[in-house]
Amino acid sequence: MTAHVKPKALDNFKARDFRMMIDGVWTEGDGMIERIAPGHSVVVSRYPAGNKADAERAIAAARKAFDNGPWPRMTGAERSNILLKAADLIAARADELAFLDCIESGKPISQAKGELGGAVDIWRYAAALARDLHGESYNTLGDGTLGVVLREAIGVVSIITPWNFPFLIVSQKLPFALAAGCTTVVKPSEMTSGSTLVLGEILIEAGVPAGVVNIVTGTGPEVGAPMTTDPDVDMISFTGSTGVGKLTMVNAAQTLKKVSLELGGKNPQIVFPDADLDAFVDAAVFGAYFNAGECCNAGSRLILHTSIAEEVTARIAELAKKVKVGDPLDPTTQVGAIITPQHLEKIGDYVEGAVKAGASVTLGGGALDLGLGQFMVPTILSGVEPDMAVAREEVFGPVLSVLTFETTKEAIRIANAIDYGLSAGVWSRDFDTCLTVGRKVRAGTVWMNTFMDGASELPFGGYRQSGLGRELGRHAVEDYTETKTLNMHIGARTGWWMPR
Ligand code: NAD
Repeated sequence: MTAHVKPKALDNFKARDFRMMIDGVWTEGDGMIERIAPGHSVVVSRYPAGNKADAERAIAAARKAFDNGPWPRMTGAERSNILLKAADLIAARADELAFLDCIESGKPISQAKGELGGAVDIWRYAAALARDLHGESYNTLGDGTLGVVLREAIGVVSIITPWNFPFLIVSQKLPFALAAGCTTVVKPSEMTSGSTLVLGEILIEAGVPAGVVNIVTGTGPEVGAPMTTDPDVDMISFTGSTGVGKLTMVNAAQTLKKVSLELGGKNPQIVFPDADLDAFVDAAVFGAYFNAGECCNAGSRLILHTSIAEEVTARIAELAKKVKVGDPLDPTTQVGAIITPQHLEKIGDYVEGAVKAGASVTLGGGALDLGLGQFMVPTILSGVEPDMAVAREEVFGPVLSVLTFETTKEAIRIANAIDYGLSAGVWSRDFDTCLTVGRKVRAGTVWMNTFMDGASELPFGGYRQSGLGRELGRHAVEDYTETKTLNMHIGARTGWWMPR
């Protein structure tokens, strides 16, 4: 192992000390959590180590802001204007936010900047929906009845986010909850809290009243768990692993909170011989190695028709060798660091387990020592069978598994033979083939002749153990509401005992 060299880009860098935001007050914790940059091996951020008492104070502030404060009582237009201002302020501080996400998570800086652009668009989209939230009316119930269905803000929402897309994921939840008129407690990952804390400053500046958004930093068991059990919380919006998602649901059951879960994935890309293979090879490399494969949507499972499997695997390997793995702060880097040394080890164990089970390493397979932090060589495993752990479980690293099929029926069976159902890709020039497979694959998003494209307008979420509910799209605000029926009688009411 070579000695770690602090990169030039961090020459004048001083680790940043953050505070958390409870009821509009910037607050210290009981000690600090140090974040060591995965791509640079130096301390880059320190966040307060919040605890149960901090979570409870934040929940009480959100409760008070919901029950008595101005936010839920504003017009949609007023909330929309504040969210638009927030979007402008996020855009103005995008470089600072992207830098934090880059150094804390190890993702490439160019990618972090792209995610900030996407996040600004989501805040603007949610701002528009704040004005469009409405219920229904029924004038078809007879002369004596008018039915009106209201959408009311659900109340206090706990928002818990992971480390792999720190700013983007909080942006898939928070602006929609705010658009609906909810108040919130946000807990970012204890590894990547910086950009979410800067968002707190932005929201105060944009005009979000104190107590409407509270941000508590700390670990899952200390801060996250009380956010899932407290009786004053009405809904939980969680993104993270399927294991913690299940625990969240169990915790929420005690007080029957509404739960929205965005969890893991093991996403197949099914490729037919008539596909545009140039386009596919590029998408396969992108799908597997984007964000170092630490992506719920990673296309980590290729299901190739046997007639093209060998040629296509070789072409993917050739292209994967050209992918630039390196310093996350280098603007030309395409694949950055792995989140922690322990996680790198876990990815290595999956590769080892697959080889023991009969798969072979076509490319990579191990760590890459750049003298900076922890990195992994883009890896391809061939001869993977559907029942191997590497084909069924989320590896969450730059590891691509290649499986094969003979018939369309078999491809669909293999694609569905897992517990997850987040997304999938289908590649064929034949429209019938794409639609047949697209309709039969059990996944929340199916890409056809492309992979991992997204838009604020398109709902996103998983089938089966990939989650519950959908984010984004025009119904995203409704997720943060309760439905109330007003059943209104017109004219004299017919008595139960005596007809009038
Ligand atoms: P994780 O489940 O370990 O942690 C997610 C969040 O939950 C963190 O803030 C963590 O502190 C908190 N947490 C941990 N224990 C908790 C507890 N007992 N109670 C409440 N909160 C607790 O996940 P991670 O490692 O941060 O993220 C990676 C996972 O997230 C992967 O499985 C990935 O697929 C998933 N993910 C899913 C999506 C999606 O949209 N479907 C998007 C990104 C990531």
